[in-house]
Amino acid sequence: MSGATRVLVLNAGSSSVKYQLIDMLDGSRLASGLAERIGEGNGRLVHTPLSGVRRESLQAFPDHDAALKAVAEELAADGVGLDSPELAAIGHRVVHGGKRFTAPTLITDEVLAEIRRLIPVAPLHNPANITGIEVARSLRPDLPQVAVFDTAFHATMPEYAARYAIDKAVADEHRVRRYGFHGTSHQYVSRAAAHLLGKDPAEVNVIVLHLGNGGSASAVAGGVCVDTSMGLTPLEGLVMGTRSGDVDPGVVFHLHRVGGLTIDEIDELLNRRSGLLGLCGDNDMREIMRRASEGDADAKLAFDTYIHRLRKYIGGYYAVLGRVDAIAFTAGVGENAAPVREAATAGLEELGIAVDPELNSVRSGEARVISPQYSRVAVAVVPTDEELEIAQQTFALVHTA
Ligand code: ADP
Repeated sequence: MSGATRVLVLNAGSSSVKYQLIDMLDGSRLASGLAERIGEGNGRLVHTPLSGVRRESLQAFPDHDAALKAVAEELAADGVGLDSPELAAIGHRVVHGGKRFTAPTLITDEVLAEIRRLIPVAPLHNPANITGIEVARSLRPDLPQVAVFDTAFHATMPEYAARYAIDKAVADEHRVRRYGFHGTSHQYVSRAAAHLLGKDPAEVNVIVLHLGNGGSASAVAGGVCVDTSMGLTPLEGLVMGTRSGDVDPGVVFHLHRVGGLTIDEIDELLNRRSGLLGLCGDNDMREIMRRASEGDADAKLAFDTYIHRLRKYIGGYYAVLGRVDAIAFTAGVGENAAPVREAATAGLEELGIAVDPELNSVRSGEARVISPQYSRVAVAVVPTDEELEIAQQTFALVHTA
């Protein structure tokens, strides 16, 4: 391996591509950006170089190929193009790795074919990830490209946590089991929480609460994931921005048989029009907290439902872990919404959990402890950095390959 130290991280979604170019010598971002509204005729590319002066351009991206080529041009304009000898590898976020991919994986034709075979369990995500990989490979066929899977960190869940209690033969035939998502974030944050406490990740048990627009909780014992709230798809678990999280599966039968909704309509309802949005018409926690503080009953109910579910998972994972050393809040809501952190942990002193109101109200981009000295369980805010984690895993793989 040459002295190339840079990794380009690509996160290709159905209509967008997010990217970061990271120098692994010091973790610095040489460039980052977002190409969005791919295929919609009114595309936009926002590019931030190391110098920090943001460039925005409006241009139609008929497909991912056009969007990635535009990204490559922006990078080239900064002197850090895809042909740069310093580029060591491209790391791709891939949502679903199924049972096979439990670690970062060098992408070959065979690996790509296997990711394609997983489309039936991740129809909303894997196709876009695959397109991103294909385009990036066509631009730099000689460069190592690595897939980092959202499911991989959860592959260590014991079988009894990964199984649904349904007929085993049916489940196996259709690959129905709990895979979990946001794994890159849970891995990064659980490790960062341990470091924040000055401990080795192998020594601590952490409950990670990744609360963004999507949300999931995980129980991590000594650095190893033992349970997580998302399942076969990212729909299970917490109340999210637009997803319902846990519902009685009977709701689906009822809506179909009695409500006359088709399966696709129910899928859309539970994934895109439920959660906070469904409960109160807003999915942005800032807006919900503002409305609730002004006495809006729907917003208050949405907030309370969100918190109630969160507390059930905290309690559940406490029992799963037996001993909890830290609870780490992360992602847009977890990092910014002090009232959510306060409400999620209120009244749990008997479990050794407490939050200091003053520490909780501090606004900062740094990882920090918000529990008082006496709290047996450290409650922390730990900003997630999925791109850095993907870059590190990618770099580590190409260096040991
Ligand atoms: P995504 O799942 O899209 O990656 P993020 O982790 O960026 O989401 O989180 C986005 C969400 O974070 C927003 O929908 C909003 O609800 C919430 N959020 C962002 N900033 C704040 C804030 N200052 N206070 C409360 N909530 C916030």
